[in-house]
Amino acid sequence: MAEWRVTVDRSRCMGSGICTAMAGTYFLMDGERSRPAAEGVPPGEAVLDAADSCPAGAITVTAADGEVVGPRD
Ligand code: SF4
Repeated sequence: MAEWRVTVDRSRCMGSGICTAMAGTYFLMDGERSRPAAEGVPPGEAVLDAADSCPAGAITVTAADGEVVGPRD
């Protein structure tokens, strides 16, 4: 399956560290804010769960066809 793309809007991130705690494979703290460890990620629940849990709504996960798959409603 094609990779998903994950982004962190660093202007929205409030540095809670939830994403790095939940999915440290995919997110790193860079100073006081998170950033993706890599732009492309294998499709999976962990990155979606992190996007769902971000209190700032800063994480967006996009499928290869451009569809936004996370956060989920
Ligand atoms: S969960 Fe959201 S607010 Fe918290 S560090 Fe990650 S991107 Fe930033």
